[in-house]
Amino acid sequence: MTGSNARSPSGTEVRLRDGVEIELSDSTTVVADGTRSAGDIAFLSHAHGDHLYDDPPESVVCSALTAALAEARREEGGPLSRETVPEIDLRLAGHVAGSRAALITDPDTGVQYCYTGDISTRDRFYLTGFEPPEADVLIVETTYGSPEYVFPEQSEIEAEITGWLEETMDRPVLLFGYSLGRAQKLQLLAKRAGRSRVLVSKAIATINSVIEDHLDVAFDAERSGPETDLEAGDALVLPTGTNNLAFVDSIIEETGALKAGFSGWAIDSAFRYRGDYDMTFPLSDHPDFAELVAVVEAVDPEIVYTHHGFAEEFATHLTGLGYESRALKANQTALGEF
Ligand SMILES: [Zn+2]
Repeated sequence: MTGSNARSPSGTEVRLRDGVEIELSDSTTVVADGTRSAGDIAFLSHAHGDHLYDDPPESVVCSALTAALAEARREEGGPLSRETVPEIDLRLAGHVAGSRAALITDPDTGVQYCYTGDISTRDRFYLTGFEPPEADVLIVETTYGSPEYVFPEQSEIEAEITGWLEETMDRPVLLFGYSLGRAQKLQLLAKRAGRSRVLVSKAIATINSVIEDHLDVAFDAERSGPETDLEAGDALVLPTGTNNLAFVDSIIEETGALKAGFSGWAIDSAFRYRGDYDMTFPLSDHPDFAELVAVVEAVDPEIVYTHHGFAEEFATHLTGLGYESRALKANQTALGEF
C-alpha cells in the first residue's frame, strides 16, 4: 500500500475517466481534456476533436489560441472562460497551433505531474517543439509507441513533399490533412513548392484565420467552392474526413487531380490503399517511437502512464527499460488502490 504516502507518487492519483483525472493531495482534482465539466480544475491541451469538450467547462486552463480555436469549432458553446491556476504551468507542446502540455505541481507535496496531451518534439513551421520538463509522474501520449513508427528527419520529409509537388505541377493535387494541424503545413509546403494557387475548404479557412490572428504566419489560401475550376498547378487542401466523399471522385474525374495523404500512419502501406491515395508521406504532428523514448528519458519520472495508440506496447517497452509504467485504461482503478 503506497497510497498513504503522498510524497512519493503512488500511481493511485492518476485515472482515465472522462479525460485524465489527477487527484492532488488535498483532494483537488485536475481533469485534462475531458468532454464534460468535472473536477475542480479543467485543462484543455489543444483544440482537436478527441481532446475537446462537448459542454464548455465553467472555466478552463488553456492557451488563448486554443480557446479561440475551440470557440470556432464549437460555435454553439459560446465564448470560453479561461483561467490560470498556481498548480498548472503551461508548456509549449509543439503538436498544433495553441497546443500546450501541463506541468502540474501538488502545492502540499511538491510532486510534479507532466501531462503531455498530444506533442511533437520537432521545431517546424510556426511551431516550437516540446521540451520535456523533469517530473515525478509522466502521463504521455503514445500514438506511435511501436518501434516500426520511426519517421525520417523533418527536413527530409518536407523536401520529399515539395519535390513531389514540383514534379506533378502539370496536374492539380488534392492534399488531405486534419483541418487543424496538417492542413496548415500542407498549405505552406504547396506555397513553398511554387504551386500556382493554394485552395482550402471552408472548415480549413476558418481555422486558418484564427491562427493568423494569433501567430506570425500567413497562409494566403483561397476559399474553394463548388464553382472553383481546378487547374494544373493548383493545390486543394481538404480535411482528411472528406477523402471518401463523392465530390472528391468527381473532381478527379473532371480534372485528373492526384490525391496525397499525410500522416504518421503512412509508414504502414495500408494507409495508402485504405485512402486510395496516389502518394502518401509520413508527415506527422506526433513524436515517432524513438522521440517518445527520448521524452521519457528527459522527464526521468518515477512512474509513466501511457495513453492513446500503442499504450500497452509502449508501457511494456518502458518496463523493459526499467521504468515503472502502465497503460491508462478507462475506469480502471490503479493497482495501488487495492
Ligand atoms: Zn491532437
